Amino acid sequence: MRVNLLGCTGIPVSELCFGTLVMGPLQANLSIQDGSELLAYSLDLGINFFDTAELYLTYPYFKPLTPSQKQRMVINSKSYAYTYQDMMESIENGLKAIDRDYFDIFMLHEQESLLTLKGHQEAVRAMVKAKEQGKIRAIGVSTHSVQLTNDLLLHPEFEVVFPLFNRVGQGLLHGTFEEMNQAIQNLYLHHFGIFTMKPLAGGRLYRSFLEELTYMRDYPYKHAIAIGTKNKNEILVDVAIIENRYEESMKGLLQLTEKKIFYRSELCAFCYTCITTCSSKVISRTEDGKLAFDWDKCCCCGYCIASCPQFALRVL
Ligand code: SF4
Ligand code: SF4
Repeated sequence: MRVNLLGCTGIPVSELCFGTLVMGPLQANLSIQDGSELLAYSLDLGINFFDTAELYLTYPYFKPLTPSQKQRMVINSKSYAYTYQDMMESIENGLKAIDRDYFDIFMLHEQESLLTLKGHQEAVRAMVKAKEQGKIRAIGVSTHSVQLTNDLLLHPEFEVVFPLFNRVGQGLLHGTFEEMNQAIQNLYLHHFGIFTMKPLAGGRLYRSFLEELTYMRDYPYKHAIAIGTKNKNEILVDVAIIENRYEESMKGLLQLTEKKIFYRSELCAFCYTCITTCSSKVISRTEDGKLAFDWDKCCCCGYCIASCPQFALRVL
């Protein structure tokens, strides 16, 4: 597995980053033991880069790993915290949960615009302090927004950017594929660390998985690609594609089915939390107070599932 230095941070990361959202309680819901074994298996295949987040509830999979396994890992996590104290708690609670002294990268999760960044300025101050204290090594931001990715050139305090990007632009906010491509190029050329998310648009592009992953593998303006994974066979195929040794016979290792968000209206309390949670604007309120869904815009991130107090949304 090729290892790249993550922009100005100089952190060596495998080109394939293991995205833990899919294995976790919001989606496949692997047991702690199975999830932990999957992380160790990936590490043995040469993957050293792992993406998690407070929201994903996947910290417990890291905890049982040995100190030497954790030492070999580059771990990225994220938080939605607004205040100084909440961000400090996010970082410290996260470190306790994974049982490690530091995160390699810590991010503001899913930012939409310069306005939302401004709203998190106290949280950024906490991240700067945590970096001085050695609790994190680099500061970053994750986003689906083309506009914000473009505007990050004005914010060198963020050293690492984790933008949504795939061959067809599925799931992008506030701009086109071409504009995101240009924004990512600009950041890359200005030495930001770049790793991209959702090469398969959260599973929506599963039919053309080889073309999608090959495109992202060959995309020159990134240091790594995060791919959500839930079993050993998927990892084997992903690694083979990234290492350019995929063979058609490997297709049988995959269960190629479309992932969908399933809404159970009989459980819904019409609190509308999911509407504000979904930055892709998939969910809206109809005139008679019901929910309407524009599934073409959905990237199957599962964030609405985490926000629903009634368990009325599930991923299938
Ligand atoms: S509907 Fe849910 S899964 Fe789909 S993009 Fe919105 S938050 Fe993500
Ligand atoms: S968050 Fe859940 S309960 Fe609230 S409106 Fe959405 S689906 Fe219904």
